[in-house]
Amino acid sequence: MVQLFRLRVMVALSKAQAATQAARLAQVRPELAKAYSVALARWMGDRKLLLLGLPIVTQGYRSAAEQAALYAQGRETPCRIYRLRKAAGLPDISAAEAGRIVTYKRGGQSNHNHEPSWALDVAHLQVDGSVRWDNAALLLFSRLMRAADKRIAWGGDWDGDGQTADETFHDWPHFELIG
Ligand SMILES: [Zn+2]
Repeated sequence: MVQLFRLRVMVALSKAQAATQAARLAQVRPELAKAYSVALARWMGDRKLLLLGLPIVTQGYRSAAEQAALYAQGRETPCRIYRLRKAAGLPDISAAEAGRIVTYKRGGQSNHNHEPSWALDVAHLQVDGSVRWDNAALLLFSRLMRAADKRIAWGGDWDGDGQTADETFHDWPHFELIG
């Protein structure tokens, strides 16, 4: 128990990070936010899972302008991407990041573009403060999310058949609750 307590302290969120998490969760559908909270609590109660990092919501609601800027990544010139990002109130990104496709949905088409959002993206905060997108850790988290609410779809296994190899594309950090 002492060890568990120490681990919790080590990966605890700062006050500002906790406020950001609360704000992001407040912008997603209540049922989705509830399932996330249940899954997070289970994760935090498991010392082995906690070793993989602390789950965090990297995005809930996303405006159509933000979505358009993300869609431009890997498809438009860096100059055009920077202009779109500026218009959406987003900070600059590196040239390498600008050349990487990060979404297949145009502005307004993503399930993140609803208010409240139908989707949220998850990553894992590490002890050293870095953020990791680890597919294996996300798979483990997806099981807790699905256990909390069976209606939730995960981007690593869209059809929910327990297989991740039979998908046409993966969006590992992505969870959504539609309808
Ligand atoms: Zn997403």
